[in-house]
Amino acid sequence: MVLFGPPGAGKGTQAQLLRDRLNLAHVSSGDLFRQNLNNNTPLGLKAAEYMKQGHLVPDEVTIDIVLDKVLSLNSEEGFILDGFPRNRYQAEVLEKALAQRSRGIDKVVHIDVCQEELIRRLAGRFNCRDCQAPHSIDKVAFSQEDLKCGQCGGELYQREDDRPEAVQRRIEVYQRETLPVLDYYREKDLLLDVSGLDTVEKVNKDVLAGLGVI
Ligand SMILES: [Zn+2]
Repeated sequence: MVLFGPPGAGKGTQAQLLRDRLNLAHVSSGDLFRQNLNNNTPLGLKAAEYMKQGHLVPDEVTIDIVLDKVLSLNSEEGFILDGFPRNRYQAEVLEKALAQRSRGIDKVVHIDVCQEELIRRLAGRFNCRDCQAPHSIDKVAFSQEDLKCGQCGGELYQREDDRPEAVQRRIEVYQRETLPVLDYYREKDLLLDVSGLDTVEKVNKDVLAGLGVI
């Protein structure tokens, strides 16, 4: 399964719920990147080289990092892809690589959230400097007390890519590169659209109902 949605749609949370409910492996491209970088694997070193020079990591390296994980899974084991494929080329390479092992994508779940709501959510995202716990703050009505971590009392700060200008850019990149992937899967009749505007529980229910599980 591929789990699809813009930054701020709540993909990570939904992926964990689906993983537990359907007994699937959660393959997050972001997590895999961090693991490969931290462990200095050959793929991690390759990716680091591009990043050090301020370049984007090319599709080939990203694809290798994700496929390396997916193809290491037991052939009976289902998986959820989170954060991949990000463009049409990656989707095509993924399909070929899976087909060679008689595997494939059964369903693509698209969690849909409108742009205004995404900006509102992402602009309110803060993290604790000490324990990294995520917090959500209403930017219009916050007090100094709200800027302290609820878990350890540490100072909250906003990551570079959660600042308003960066948020706008991330959404634009998503729309330009990633929406064509949705069309790709829509043509193959694999797409399940679910509104991401509801509560976490309701969105999860809608996904499971759409998959025919409940
Ligand atoms: Zn903290």
